[in-house]
Amino acid sequence: MAWETIRKAATPGVPPNLVDYAQTCSDFTWSRARHELDGLPGGTGLNMAYEAVDRHVATDRGGKVALRCVGRDDTVETVTYAELARRTARFANALRLLGVGRGDAVFTLLGRCPELYTAVLGTLKNTSVLCPLFSAFGPDPVEQRLQLGDARVLVTTAALYRRKVADRRASLPGLAHVLIVGPGAEDLPGTLSFDMLTAAAPDQFTIPPTSPEDTALLHFTSGTTGAPKGAIHVHEAVVAHHATASYALDLHPEDVYWCTADPGWVTGMSYGIIAPLVHGVTLVVDEGDFDARRWYRILAEQRVGVWYTAPTALRMLMRTTLGQEHHNVPAAYDLSALRFVASVGEPLNPEAVVWGQEVLGLPVHDNWWQTETGCIMIANFAGCEIRPGSMGRPVPGAEATVLERGENGRALITDGRVTEVETPGVEGELALRPGWPSMFRGYLHDKERYEATFADGWYLTGDLARRDEDGWYWFVGRADDVIKSAGHLVGPFEVESALMEHPAVVEAGVIGRPDPVAGNIVKAFVSLRPGTEPTAALERELLAFGRRRLGPAVAPREIAFDQNLPRTRSGKVMRRLLRARELGLPTGDLSTLEGST
Ligand code: AMP
Repeated sequence: MAWETIRKAATPGVPPNLVDYAQTCSDFTWSRARHELDGLPGGTGLNMAYEAVDRHVATDRGGKVALRCVGRDDTVETVTYAELARRTARFANALRLLGVGRGDAVFTLLGRCPELYTAVLGTLKNTSVLCPLFSAFGPDPVEQRLQLGDARVLVTTAALYRRKVADRRASLPGLAHVLIVGPGAEDLPGTLSFDMLTAAAPDQFTIPPTSPEDTALLHFTSGTTGAPKGAIHVHEAVVAHHATASYALDLHPEDVYWCTADPGWVTGMSYGIIAPLVHGVTLVVDEGDFDARRWYRILAEQRVGVWYTAPTALRMLMRTTLGQEHHNVPAAYDLSALRFVASVGEPLNPEAVVWGQEVLGLPVHDNWWQTETGCIMIANFAGCEIRPGSMGRPVPGAEATVLERGENGRALITDGRVTEVETPGVEGELALRPGWPSMFRGYLHDKERYEATFADGWYLTGDLARRDEDGWYWFVGRADDVIKSAGHLVGPFEVESALMEHPAVVEAGVIGRPDPVAGNIVKAFVSLRPGTEPTAALERELLAFGRRRLGPAVAPREIAFDQNLPRTRSGKVMRRLLRARELGLPTGDLSTLEGST
């Protein structure tokens, strides 16, 4: 065999949910998956929050711990399903009292605090639309998304509001209510106290009829050009969250589960909140930031059984002394409860899979999906062989393919038709057959962009992949210019636009430069206004400017001055060429380069 394979020893007493891949795929239907959920009482529809919270209470499981929130100071607050039902009912009632109703957008700009779970699930109960933002975003991305997403309510903290929203409020006339979690609302004009509002609200709430097609979630993602795109997801997505968490994360109701993804990212929502609660597991929530010792301690002390994390985090763990001295980790921390580890968001290098086996005693199961797909689409499964470096195989209910590419790097579309790559190992654009429940239903206010993602009955992912002769998928790269940095999808246009607002900058081209830990870092090439000197001080100033405006998750980490940025004849900076030059790669077709003959 051309690749190394790892076969996971079955965890004693916990048979995997998926054992026979072919059989499970052939037996699977989405309508059967739908029947594993309860639906609203009286047949009044399907609501994510009911499936995640209230149905456990209705079936005598209300006493079970839903959340175990570990604070920055290591204090642990536990919240049962019954308590979560009451808190989310209070929040839904508070929204109703404020006149916020069906389809209104409620944004969160919060870290992983208990109130986040209340706000998300309470919003869904009220049939309003929840849109989470990264708390690491700077004021520009926050303002832009609040505007684009028609935000009516924002739930945040006093510190985040002061730093990122307060002085932009005038440009957000539709933002009717800002709810401040924790202290500080009294000192901030135009805000209300989340705690006071929810404390005063009744703790019973009847979820109104909810159509499976009602919008539930809005997730912003980035494209190569233009404004961020708001991907619309509906309540029916919960069917896919539930089924895929069963197969790809192997969740069992008795599990203690930890998802380290930021709640501002689709993973932090689909698999950090909805899917695990629908499965009725106990969710570990860490409010703190990454710290290798802290993470090992949480895995050990909280007796985490299933862990869903990201390649950057794993590479950071691998780099710590603890990780390098392999034998130290199991000796210092009791990881005996851990039975399944999965990762998503960026390519998982084979070394990380093997490191997991050696250090954690378990291989890491890579899986693949996107904001638009709403759920895991390709995965390595608990009961199946792992091919390190491969994303795995399509989840039951998903149909994937690889399409032949055209000159622009994307799928070749001729007279509306595409061609599937038949030969194993040949790369092309990864495509999926639409129709699964968590498929996005549109980009908010942008029908054209949504329609452009489909061709000939396929959804085009923008990723390049190849498929081996046994049907395993291998990630090759992006077919466009978006940058994956430490798991965040960064749109180069957003960064370029921010830099060009600095008085010294006339033009900017932004690329991802490969980095051994973050996958890529954001690097900006800027050309300066005539007469401006490219000094080290200006470089520092631009880095700080970017950080202040965009926040650490998006801002460039490197700046290079270049008075001759390569441009197409139509005047666009050629990022592809900047990247090729930076990496010493072949420059490819330059016929569109300005000045070429
Ligand atoms: P996002 O919409 O922010 O979740 O980003 C989705 C993109 O992340 C995908 O289109 C891929 O480019 C990348 N991605 C997600 N999972 C993987 C994976 N397992 N391996 C490689 N790239 C991945």
